[in-house]
Amino acid sequence: MTIHAMPETATHKALSGRVALITGSTSGIGLGVARALAAAGADVVLNGLGAGDEIAALQADLRAEHGVKVLYSGADLSDAAAIEDMMAMSVAAFGRVDILVNNAGIQFVSPLESFPPARWHAVLAVNLTAAFHTTRLALPGMRERGFGRIINVASAHGLVASPFKAAYVAAKHGLIGLTKVTALEAAEADITCNAICPGYVWTPLVERQIDDQAIAHGVPRDAVVRDILLAQQPNKRFATVEQLSALALFLATPEAGSITGAALPMDGGWTAH
Ligand code: NAD
Repeated sequence: MTIHAMPETATHKALSGRVALITGSTSGIGLGVARALAAAGADVVLNGLGAGDEIAALQADLRAEHGVKVLYSGADLSDAAAIEDMMAMSVAAFGRVDILVNNAGIQFVSPLESFPPARWHAVLAVNLTAAFHTTRLALPGMRERGFGRIINVASAHGLVASPFKAAYVAAKHGLIGLTKVTALEAAEADITCNAICPGYVWTPLVERQIDDQAIAHGVPRDAVVRDILLAQQPNKRFATVEQLSALALFLATPEAGSITGAALPMDGGWTAH
């Protein structure tokens, strides 16, 4: 069988004229997704924490490389009013948000009995409640235009649990629940909502966890990687930011229009256990 490649222009500019807002896109998976959507022709709104000069350089880089418009919001996603400002700013600048990627996330690792309540609230706020706010604010415009793509970066921890991650596991399970409700409510308006569930991906978030887990379990860093992080991942490899970005890009295209309400694992077989 002969498989014909898509013409370059068609694949590269599949999202021309679209506007994508990606939370937590100054680092890791979110940055990779922003790059992939910009490469496909979407104007992008970046969000996340970080040094001003590095973020300005990132914006300039995306503009120069892909010829798209790039905006940045420094909204703290644990603050509902800041999220409202970010969404309003995006619509004021670009007229709309067609693709919403709820990616920002934080982690805190601790046994349940000593889990600090303030950390519980912080993890729930950024990983779950922020997606509720961005989604409720993006939906009316998507409905008006009869098109929308909402992609929630959940986790294998949205499907199964691990010890010491009470807040994160609860938030990611909640995010998959929010994904399903959003999908059901918006389906007829050609708005899809799906969750991506990565296993371990080598990013700054995981880098920080190695130290936290080493303390929690009382073992060295290399033992954390081998015996704890990748213990559940049958292929024994970290997924890559590029693999995650390719899946997010596909979900944003018209070809993915019938995929909605799904929680798609990219976890090397972890959740097949
Ligand atoms: P990362 O730490 O590299 O990036 C997180 C992003 O979120 C950064 O841009 C950061 O600035 C932003 N952020 C954090 N707190 C914020 C706040 N209060 N307001 C605004 N922005 C904030 O992490 P990552 O590994 O790229 O993770 C991205 C997403 O993928 C997260 O939701 C994470 O839970 C999920 N995930 C990651 C892995 C992995 O192995 N790396 C696995 C499963 C799921």
